[in-house]
Amino acid sequence: MSDRRDPRRGLPSVDALGRAEALADIAPAERIATIRQVLAEERAARATTSAPATTETLIARVRALAARAREPVPRPVINATGVIINTNLGRAPLSEAALMAMRAASSYAALEYDLAAGERGSRNALARDLLCQLTGAEDALVVNNGAAAVLLILAALLNGDRREVIVSRGQLVEIGGGFRIPDVLRQSGARLVEVGTTNRTRAEDYAAAITPATALLLLVHPSNFRVIGFTEAPDRAELAEVARDHVVPLIEDMGSGCLLDLSRFGLTPEPTPQAALAAGVELVSFSGDKLLGGPQAGIIVGAARTIKLLAQHPLMRALRVDKVTLASLIATLGSYARNVALTEIPVWRMIAQLPETLRQRAEALVAMLFGAGIVAEVRSGESTIGGGSLPGETLPTWHIALSVRTVGDLDALGKRLRMSSPAVIPRIAHDYLLLDPRTVPPERDADVLDVLIRCMRETGHAN
Ligand SMILES: *Cc1c(COP(=O)(O)O)cnc(C)c1O
Repeated sequence: MSDRRDPRRGLPSVDALGRAEALADIAPAERIATIRQVLAEERAARATTSAPATTETLIARVRALAARAREPVPRPVINATGVIINTNLGRAPLSEAALMAMRAASSYAALEYDLAAGERGSRNALARDLLCQLTGAEDALVVNNGAAAVLLILAALLNGDRREVIVSRGQLVEIGGGFRIPDVLRQSGARLVEVGTTNRTRAEDYAAAITPATALLLLVHPSNFRVIGFTEAPDRAELAEVARDHVVPLIEDMGSGCLLDLSRFGLTPEPTPQAALAAGVELVSFSGDKLLGGPQAGIIVGAARTIKLLAQHPLMRALRVDKVTLASLIATLGSYARNVALTEIPVWRMIAQLPETLRQRAEALVAMLFGAGIVAEVRSGESTIGGGSLPGETLPTWHIALSVRTVGDLDALGKRLRMSSPAVIPRIAHDYLLLDPRTVPPERDADVLDVLIRCMRETGHAN
């Protein structure tokens, strides 16, 4: 038996590599673990190739692997797509206030502790007061996400023979990621009763469908599509009256919990939780990380008697949020309560950016690119809200645009930008690679410029 293919032959030992000067700055335990991994990979490689790596190469691999292991995961990115609530990029970026609160809560914190009394307090009370103040609700509850909120509501309100849930045919939606209202209802043991048509449903349709088996009437926000033309959705107040007359609760899954008036930004107003409650809706649920601009959470606001049923349900324990999320949510709600949401919450700061400001930022970047020998244009375009909020609605913006005639392969440049450090995510449309300053924090403009110049140099498109 020849040992010519023995993969261990000529491989340096862990000790030998561990003594390398170039690895001295890596902590001993981490150094050894990383060396072991690199040697294992090399051993596997030598079994199939005849070109063994040199000791220098192995040392370089150890350094690279250790560096990569220290990079934050998921990798932070600069979102230049112009999609503000970008589900693939983690929905809403959090405010400074939220980050500070999360840091404080990561240590010991008075989460379920009454400091004055020195005894157990209520975890829910912290967010409840702010939610009640902001929405006019009697009571509120926080769970893991919007889907969990719907799940908990159904679990708590379906009762014995009362299992029918009445939903308009125009609101049997799929939100994305497989959240389909009919499936969620089936899963929770509800019997779906469809009323009305795709485009028109009236309060009478619900009234006619109510039986002794009806558990609740459910309104679902068509978050990610719009039906246009001859449409009619029932008026909430009218429907609330029908619900009251028949003593069944009217519940609304609102999707994006928009607490502010969007019309001042030229957008179609979204229903707000406060308006729905004022119209007589029993419970409203919405997400924490859509237009609210906070962490992933599901918020339920409404009548105290019904919230109490939810809070006491055994599922509540499985769906409750952790302390860091709660701290982040409370800080986000605090920005609304202090009336500084537009300046403190990134989602709203981006929505509120004026086209003129965006144009100036785009022009400044294009001028600096020109200085590096890169020809880019400032082109008018549109940003979107995204994340299942305000479908079809756009905000005017100004893009930094690189033409296919300048760049050649747009997809290759796009990949290079995404793989760079920091990663920059552009959009490609109609023979242009586009960077939308609206979703880039202004203090990151210099990073975008750096990355772009570097990538263009690597492909020989800049001097
Ligand atoms: C987004 C959305 C959900 C799901 O909320 P998550 O927080 O993503 O779980 C449910 N219903 C509607 C109408 C939505 O728009």
